[in-house]
Amino acid sequence: MLRISLRLFMSNGFNHNFKKLIFLPSNGLEYLPYASIKNVTMSLTLLTLDKNASNTDFENIIQIIERYVELPTSIFDMFVIDIYFIWASLLSLEINDSDKYVFGGICKHCGEVNSISMNFSQHKTNVIDRYKPFKQLKVKINKDTIVVNLRKTKDNIDYTYLKLYSKEKDNITNIIHYIISQIDYIETWDRLTDKQLIFEYLQFLSYKDLVLLLELVSSYNHIYGIENELMYRCINCRKSNYTTVFDDFRFCVINPSGVNTNKIIGFYKDNIEFSQLSIMSIEDYMNIPYRDGEFFNQGLQGAKLLPRGF
Ligand SMILES: [Zn+2]
Repeated sequence: MLRISLRLFMSNGFNHNFKKLIFLPSNGLEYLPYASIKNVTMSLTLLTLDKNASNTDFENIIQIIERYVELPTSIFDMFVIDIYFIWASLLSLEINDSDKYVFGGICKHCGEVNSISMNFSQHKTNVIDRYKPFKQLKVKINKDTIVVNLRKTKDNIDYTYLKLYSKEKDNITNIIHYIISQIDYIETWDRLTDKQLIFEYLQFLSYKDLVLLLELVSSYNHIYGIENELMYRCINCRKSNYTTVFDDFRFCVINPSGVNTNKIIGFYKDNIEFSQLSIMSIEDYMNIPYRDGEFFNQGLQGAKLLPRGF
């Protein structure tokens, strides 16, 4: 036995066999809590070389993860917190030389563009305790209870499709499209599980309640996984700023073939305006290095920006 395994080891060679086992923050909630990363050094090189592709960041991340990571289940059925964690692990391995991940942040006080470096391996990650009953988010609005699941990759893709192909372009529909796939059921005069009924229910909420729901859902999505809030001190004015490491709205954008680039620009524009609902800031869009920067910039130019402090 020993001889056989030794020979296998020798013939495969050490480098080709490289695998890094990582433990996922969802910790077995719905699927095995492990993934293994292979051939790490190729991953980000490809991302930076392939600049002409029409893929967005989110699509790239999906493709790179599917190619270089052995996942416990389909990536679409995986929780977003796990995907962020895997992506951060890839980045950490990739940038092992300096052990730092650098991104830009604009100071909210003086406008200085700061270069923020973070070390993913030392950044806190909250893991689900598998020996305690898992709590869904329960939001009470009026006398009803809205019960929400943790966000999955497929929820982001649902949102993109709903948004790109829906005739209604108002903010209310946009918010509903973002959260509806995460809603498990609504406890009201009856238990609503049918998505059409849930959609109609949400349409009748006040704008204020809907925004509140969105904010609660957005923070719930980061209770577990890599801690999303990062404090940094501006190099110019020395004041503190808070920024998010992962921006959920940016990680929703995909560019399905057949959809023209104006739609993608519009998507960014809407999401930037959306971001003014105090959930996140424009600065948050600057966080992760992205390739579809041109679409983003055009979206930014077209977006109606509210004064600071809104
Ligand atoms: Zn400053």
